[in-house]
Amino acid sequence: MIYHSTRNSALSVSSAEAIAQGISADGGLFVPASIPELTAADFEALKGLSYAERAARLFALYLTDFTDEELRECTKAAYESGSFETPDVQEITRLADGSLLLELWHGPTCAFKDMALQILPHFLTRAIRKTGTDKEVVILTATSGDTGKAALAGFQDVPGTRIMVFYPEDGVSSMQKRQMQTQEGENVCVCAVKGNFDDCQNGVKAIFTDPEMQKLLAENGMQFSSANSINWGRLVPQIVYYVSAYVTMLEKGILKEGERFNITVPTGNFGNILAAWYAKQMGVPVQHLVCASNINNVLTDFIETGIYDRNRTFHATVSPSMDILISSNLERLLYHMTGENDAQIREWFGALKSEGRYDIGTELRNRIQAEFSGAFYDDDATKKLIGKVFAENGYLSDTHTAVGICAARAYNEKAADKYPMLIASTANPYKFGAAVLEAIGGDTDADEYEILSRLQERSGMKIPKALAELKTKKVRFTGSVEQDAMAAFVRETLGIR
Ligand SMILES: *Cc1c(COP(=O)(O)O)cnc(C)c1O
Repeated sequence: MIYHSTRNSALSVSSAEAIAQGISADGGLFVPASIPELTAADFEALKGLSYAERAARLFALYLTDFTDEELRECTKAAYESGSFETPDVQEITRLADGSLLLELWHGPTCAFKDMALQILPHFLTRAIRKTGTDKEVVILTATSGDTGKAALAGFQDVPGTRIMVFYPEDGVSSMQKRQMQTQEGENVCVCAVKGNFDDCQNGVKAIFTDPEMQKLLAENGMQFSSANSINWGRLVPQIVYYVSAYVTMLEKGILKEGERFNITVPTGNFGNILAAWYAKQMGVPVQHLVCASNINNVLTDFIETGIYDRNRTFHATVSPSMDILISSNLERLLYHMTGENDAQIREWFGALKSEGRYDIGTELRNRIQAEFSGAFYDDDATKKLIGKVFAENGYLSDTHTAVGICAARAYNEKAADKYPMLIASTANPYKFGAAVLEAIGGDTDADEYEILSRLQERSGMKIPKALAELKTKKVRFTGSVEQDAMAAFVRETLGIR
């Protein structure tokens, strides 16, 4: 399998190169030249296998320059080393209304990002070796909260790597901040940015694509890579969990072979929902995809109008991992759906950069609407939903998942189709404890650890070990910088002035 850049179809790289580089030098994202298709027999063959075994088989379709043995080593290390609290890695829970929650947060940092970031370091270190460089990899990551911690946990003390994480100073939950500030490891660094997530992401992108900086790194035996969902090595593990979820639903008799279902995904950077779309292209019988947002509703507007317009107020919400105005992975969807029209992508994403907007026209918009719908919910609706689901089912939902459940319920009420609905459940509710406790009527006047105990008292749900432990961990990283000082901070930390 070869990979092209969304901004240059003539550029062809191997999967190892795509993963090692993270983002193409032309600013585009790497996409597979074709999308492998699975037959009924292929799905059948995945039954009875562990998650790690399924993942290795599916990775082999995309990461063709990795040997089966290497892939098995990677999936074993990521999914079978005890870092996930459930042996099946992911769980499917059914609510009283029949909707199905695909719980993707049983990993070490309590958010779905672990599904990909527990394996990315293993891909990346092998990819670097395959591409013939012995450079130290410097992972530079902008985070709206969950990516950063999951990346830090994945890369902690991985030989040959260093990782630097930037997060918006006032844009993450107190638990997320704690998780990052207490990160252990010799090769890690965390820094707050005075700005929002888009400021962090733009700062990181600018550092990445700065030729001066790249030269400086090369002279010092280093190279950048990315752990953000722009890296193909993060997207492909996400495709795996949708394929695996379908196989598990067949095994459990929740679906019959070939029976269609819908998927709702609480969305920010468009990575998770794009993975569901790839799974659909591969042959998972997905009928419709519902893209759920908080009041940063740029994607809802885009799906409705065909106009992507980031010129709007940024809102901090109780679902901070979706507080995003630039959804990078949309570029991959548009590249595929325009028949790999790189010139068109350059034009649109050039306009996004210079004017903050682009218009895809009605023809493509209609085709997108045939596969996707969008909906958005504010914090009030999100909290009400959490309270309602808890009252009806005794089930605690985190704030992001709650946005998804709102959208799924609205879709089911309105839509003519009656297909089962699978909702991606993206974080453990304890990770956003204050908002969740408030939503179920608890008193939130307490520190984050007292909030955990109060939530446990009311719900009976076990506090994840990784969060309970934070209380006794040393706070290591408390610094913050302005966006225009990020590059200097990187140089200083790496000692390459
Ligand atoms: C990152 C994140 C999202 C958004 O996922 P994207 O792939 O960026 O669309 C949703 N919920 C949680 C809890 C997250 O951490």
